[in-house]
Amino acid sequence: MQSAPALDPYPITAATAAFLKRSHELLIGGRWVGPHAGGTIEVIDPATARRIATVSAATAPDVDAAVAAARAAFEAGPWSAMSGGARAKLLWALADRIAADARVLAELETLDNGKPLSETLAIDIPVGAELLRYMGGWATKLNGESVHIGEPGDFQAYTLREPVGVVGQIIPWNFPLLMALLKIGPALAAGCTIILKPAEQTPLTALRLGALMLEVGFPPGVINILTGYGETAGAAMSAHGGIDKIAFTGSTEVGRRVVAAAAGNLKRVSLELGGKSPMIVMPDADVDAVLAGAVPGIFFNAGQSCMAGSRLIVHETLAAPIIEGMIARAKGIRIGSGFDPSTQVGPLVSQQQLERVQAHIASGLSEGATLVAGGQRVDREGYFLEPTIFTGVTPTMTIAREEIFGPVLCVSTFTGTNLDDIAALGNDTAYGLAASVWTNNLTVAHRMIRKLKSGQVWINAHHVGGPDLPVGGYKQSGWGRELGRAGVEMYTEVKAVAIALEKPGPWLTLKG
Ligand code: NAP
Ligand code: MG
Repeated sequence: MQSAPALDPYPITAATAAFLKRSHELLIGGRWVGPHAGGTIEVIDPATARRIATVSAATAPDVDAAVAAARAAFEAGPWSAMSGGARAKLLWALADRIAADARVLAELETLDNGKPLSETLAIDIPVGAELLRYMGGWATKLNGESVHIGEPGDFQAYTLREPVGVVGQIIPWNFPLLMALLKIGPALAAGCTIILKPAEQTPLTALRLGALMLEVGFPPGVINILTGYGETAGAAMSAHGGIDKIAFTGSTEVGRRVVAAAAGNLKRVSLELGGKSPMIVMPDADVDAVLAGAVPGIFFNAGQSCMAGSRLIVHETLAAPIIEGMIARAKGIRIGSGFDPSTQVGPLVSQQQLERVQAHIASGLSEGATLVAGGQRVDREGYFLEPTIFTGVTPTMTIAREEIFGPVLCVSTFTGTNLDDIAALGNDTAYGLAASVWTNNLTVAHRMIRKLKSGQVWINAHHVGGPDLPVGGYKQSGWGRELGRAGVEMYTEVKAVAIALEKPGPWLTLKG
């Protein structure tokens, strides 16, 4: 592994280069501090396999320090006394600061994760900023309800929504900044304080975010950022008795570990986990529309999306044109450095992820699926893999059951038009994150929406969302919903209040 950033022939701005060269410490209590155990993590550019920066590796004592800072900020200090309106203004100021820093953030994201700069500039940064603005709106609207209670007597009763407290947020590497903003936005709107752990592979934009948050005036301890490994920093957060809630996005396997660790103090847990999302093509579907939606449905972000449409389930009458069209489009996808303006799909995030996906491709071949496109590593430096399509995939094959999290599409076909049978094919998975159905028949669309056990259902589209549309999973895809009202309410506790306006009735005064 070489240590010089290999950015030729694609120059980066001086500000990005300067940020990469900095020593990167942990953000605890409003200050950048070195990690207690002195550990570091090398940050790799997946397009070149070269080191681009070195960050700190937090361990349990750093988690303790961050929790103490977050607790102090939550219980006392300026944050605890701040109105919803003041929190909203800080969130909007942060959104503006992020927009002003878009070029640097986008370059860091592309270097760190590999995704095309055109996408980081057009999606990750502006969508993230808009999400903060949306969440800022909730900060002034987290009201309780007044309630009429039926006891004999005269009571004034109501509910309060209070921030849940100190929250730990653990995020993956596939949308590093967007995941961070999606986590911090609602927590800050609700008035919580935060310890955020980005993925070990992609820590850079979270560190930049921390600096921007201090610049716009978030008080010390409101946001603490711990770069570090899941097995150490992440595990210490999940088990910590001083953390009131953990919000986790990542694999189902690690999600189970987080739940077990959280049992100690019964902290609240929300989980956004894996998926094995079906794209179901009904016999009346518009073939061009399917192709236009299903290609990014699976290959967007090199398939490294929890909602990737990784199972294409096609009615046999449309199988030929859909499969031919998918193969032609997959073969035409331009793979390359995220800094090359013509690139449509970048590398996978890491050597480990590349190997995981290659192992899935090998299992597809050995279990009898037919490889009709891709399947090979691209012959160049970095972790590039060809967009890959298997046909003849049966429901018992490993590639049909396990999340691959790479550019691999599994195609199967069905006959008949019984909607229960078709929905059962889509539901034949431990996951339940997203599903899309392609049809122009209104009745079929609405019935399929009801039958699919999935947190998101899209009709004639895949990967549709916005800050006000809740995201989350049925079954083993998770607990809770992020975004929208549900996403911000998840960071609150409901307190029920009853005030006696006259002497309470006899059964309430037995001992009085
Ligand atoms: P992962 O291993 O589950 O990692 C996710 C995060 O958890 C990382 O920050 C990781 O730290 C941390 N972690 C690892 N072990 C931990 C532990 N014992 N305790 C606490 N935290 C721990 O996931 P990944 O393989 O990196 O990412 C891909 C997976 O994420 C896929 O399965 C995908 O479905 C899922 N994902 C889901 C969504 C969603 O919204 N539903 C979005 C994106 C990704 P390290 O960085 O050190 O590993
Ligand atoms: Mg990991």
